[in-house]
Amino acid sequence: MLATLFWFLLFPVVAVTLAYRRESLKRSTLVMGGLLLAYTLLGNAGGFWLSLLWLLFLGLLLLNFEDFRRTTISRRLLAFYRQILPPMSDTEREALEAGTVWWEGDLFSGAPDWEKLYQMPAPRLTREEQAFLDGPTETLCRMLDDWQITHELADMPPEVWAYIRQEKFFAMIIPKRYGGLEFSALAQSCVLRKLASRSLVVASTVGVPNSLGPGELLLHYGTEEQKDHYLPRLAAGDEIPCFALTSPRVGSDATAITDTGVVCRGEYEGREIIGIRLNWDKRYITLAPIATVLGLAFKLYDPDHLMGDRDAYGITAGLVPTRLPGVTIGRRHFPLNIPFQNGPTQGRDVFVPLDAIIGGPERAGEGWKMLVQQLSVGRGITLPSNAVGCGKAAVYASGAYARIRRQFGLPVGKFHGVGEVLARMAGRTYIMTAAADVTIGAIDAGEKPAVPAAILKYHNTEMGRAIANDAMDVQGGKGIMLGPKNYLGRNYQGMPIAITVEGANILTRGLIIFGQGAIRCHPYVLKEMEAAGAEGEAGLRAFDRALFGHLGYAVGNAARSLVMALTQARYVMAPTRDGTRRYYQHISRYSASFALAADVAMLTLGGALKRKELLSARLGDVLSAIYLASMVLKHHVNQGSPEEDLPIVEWACRSLLYDAQEQLHGLLRNLPNRWASALLRLFVFPRGRSYSAPSDELGLQIAELIMRPCDSRERLCEGIYQAVEPNNPLGLLQEALELTESVKPLERKVFNARRDGLFESEDTPSQINEAERKGILTADEAAQLRSFDAKVMALIDVDDFAAAELAVRKTAATPGAARAPVKKPQAKKKAGKKKASKKRVVKKPVVAKRATEPVEKQGD
Ligand SMILES: Cc1cc2nc3c(=O)[nH]c(=O)nc-3n(C[C@H](O)[C@H](O)[C@H](O)COP(=O)(O)OP(=O)(O)OC[C@H]3O[C@@H](n4cnc5c(N)ncnc54)[C@H](O)[C@@H]3O)c2cc1C
Repeated sequence: MLATLFWFLLFPVVAVTLAYRRESLKRSTLVMGGLLLAYTLLGNAGGFWLSLLWLLFLGLLLLNFEDFRRTTISRRLLAFYRQILPPMSDTEREALEAGTVWWEGDLFSGAPDWEKLYQMPAPRLTREEQAFLDGPTETLCRMLDDWQITHELADMPPEVWAYIRQEKFFAMIIPKRYGGLEFSALAQSCVLRKLASRSLVVASTVGVPNSLGPGELLLHYGTEEQKDHYLPRLAAGDEIPCFALTSPRVGSDATAITDTGVVCRGEYEGREIIGIRLNWDKRYITLAPIATVLGLAFKLYDPDHLMGDRDAYGITAGLVPTRLPGVTIGRRHFPLNIPFQNGPTQGRDVFVPLDAIIGGPERAGEGWKMLVQQLSVGRGITLPSNAVGCGKAAVYASGAYARIRRQFGLPVGKFHGVGEVLARMAGRTYIMTAAADVTIGAIDAGEKPAVPAAILKYHNTEMGRAIANDAMDVQGGKGIMLGPKNYLGRNYQGMPIAITVEGANILTRGLIIFGQGAIRCHPYVLKEMEAAGAEGEAGLRAFDRALFGHLGYAVGNAARSLVMALTQARYVMAPTRDGTRRYYQHISRYSASFALAADVAMLTLGGALKRKELLSARLGDVLSAIYLASMVLKHHVNQGSPEEDLPIVEWACRSLLYDAQEQLHGLLRNLPNRWASALLRLFVFPRGRSYSAPSDELGLQIAELIMRPCDSRERLCEGIYQAVEPNNPLGLLQEALELTESVKPLERKVFNARRDGLFESEDTPSQINEAERKGILTADEAAQLRSFDAKVMALIDVDDFAAAELAVRKTAATPGAARAPVKKPQAKKKAGKKKASKKRVVKKPVVAKRATEPVEKQGD
């Protein structure tokens, strides 16, 4: 009996071990063959079981013969695969092929190689980059008055525009040989973070020319003449660029643009040449109102075959000087009270030479490829960095505010409800920073990680939005009352902008992260698709290899997911032995479960998965959660593994891994094939959903960390504008926070005296006076407390305005209008009496003002 049990267990244990270790088919066949032989010679099985086992083994053995496998299995499966393969347009293919595969490929494999990530050097700024941050960036921040920019001018003042151009903030990506700064992606990110902590208008204005636009496109695809002409002028700030893709009818579905360029003969600068007649109508274009050169996406046609033998070339990117006749710029949109220069532009029969095409005529039709290739990197830098800057500023301010603002006799941050929110803000800020730092480090090391860039774009901007929301809660009315003293309202208002641009977030989550990841990062799917597209025996051969590789990989992931879920991944290799070890192990477990679930979803849904966006979004969420958790761990290592930060690291990893678990559960609940779902659940959650979210206690520890001046708080908020000066609330809040420690014993004396009923007065300043008079405080101590109280009250203070000050139209704002008696409606005039005149009111055309001229005060 015991012997039977032994053999009964031995077979599955050996099979699972081979699969878990991803042993080759050949080696697995040999091991299973040896085991079966031993069983035949030593075991006590009856004829039926033994025959069955030999039969199964024969099947396994046959799979080792490629010719047999190809003709009997792969040929049939290839025909089926071709049927279920979703159709793919050229533009989709170009989007999928953009960029490289980095750490996300490891997570997709189900067996991440931690050493690879662990050994990656920590990203560092050069001395020159650091000097730029400490010098011109600090100076620029000092020059800014966000209320003046967002409310009074609806623009940056002329001296700020001039300083930005002069110090080459617009030229961070332009090489030195063209007069640019040639900064790393990390340096760009750090500059944007600091600016975003001070003014979103300035961060957005600086971000755009350094992101997807003429500069970036010229650098990668421009001809030498184009580079020599434009790059030095862009670097010097003599040209202001913008890039126009979006139009009124076409937003997310950008490949459907209807703006056209027709190759024809025309006159340009006094000569008759072959060129392009452009017509466009674009909107939402950042910097368009003041641009001197417009990067334009249009569809190119050549009906008379003046350029080549094709009628149509598809999306093409060109450069159009805005001074040309037919170009309209100047009008502005008003994006959520963050009035950076953004507006529509139209072109009517604008004639440009053929070499206006970026890269010259031979690059006609490559516009879309250029855009998605550059976006695959840029998406991971500008918007995620702005979100990091805003997040850090919000945490820095909220931690200090929650300490200095007292209610019910206690700092509000001491109340557990507020503490929970502060912890969430800190944890998310850590995740955003870690993701940006490590991913941008990979970009600087030469990667073009398209899927991580989409993960950063989506998650950093979503977390940024959540943090801005939370900060408003923590600071109550102080956050809401706009005015020069408000440091939260504009970020809160502006967050949806980042959600919308460079791939709106719902689309990024539902289509891009997993959709692109499944094909780009999966070790076999792209190979299978390519093989399915190839003709003849070579295609079949390639398909066979990819298919059987895929099968082995799926079986391996099933074994790994099951074993790690059963053992809670306790025995998985991890690169550290400290408090973070378990998170490495859990990420490995969820990586295997995710890889298995992705395969099952693709197998059961085929091309329909593309339309099942919610399933695809959930898979994307799982991939994102384990990606972000790995970034958190790596960032902690990069910072020297400070023990003091462990609560935040734990909160971040726990929240992300809990989310991975819940999204996998959501996927299983919604997978249409219920049999597949039930089977998958056995491998993913054999012990149920056993992973828990961060505890309340952990959250409160984090709240304490960010409510007192300490290294953890400093590290978390590093890189924002912290100068202690009259119009920088961040610096002043930190100053007040630091003072709370030194005045604590004095406050205690006043508190005790109040408790003992020694004061006649009620308010704090009078009580300080009384305490001094009664010898409870010395004169010095009283002065110290008075000064502290004044500083705190100045920070808690909000703005108020004369009623007329708030109105945009001065004449409409009559003080007391709200209390004016309501006029009774006049009785209807009898029919037939004189009709009211229906004269059309002709609006006066609005004349666009120059960006550097102050425009009339904008209302909120
Ligand atoms: C402040 C600002 C600055 C901008 N700057 C520029 C610029 O400089 N140059 C430029 O060319 N463009 C710019 N844009 C345009 C921006 O890229 C577009 O707003 C964006 O592409 C979305 O288009 P849309 O706003 O028309 O939304 P729509 O395309 O109408 O989308 C509406 C909603 O539907 C969702 N959606 C659409 N399709 C799908 C799908 N298949 N699956 C799931 N969800 C989907 C979107 O996620 C979104 O939530 C800017 C926009 C803003 C707001």
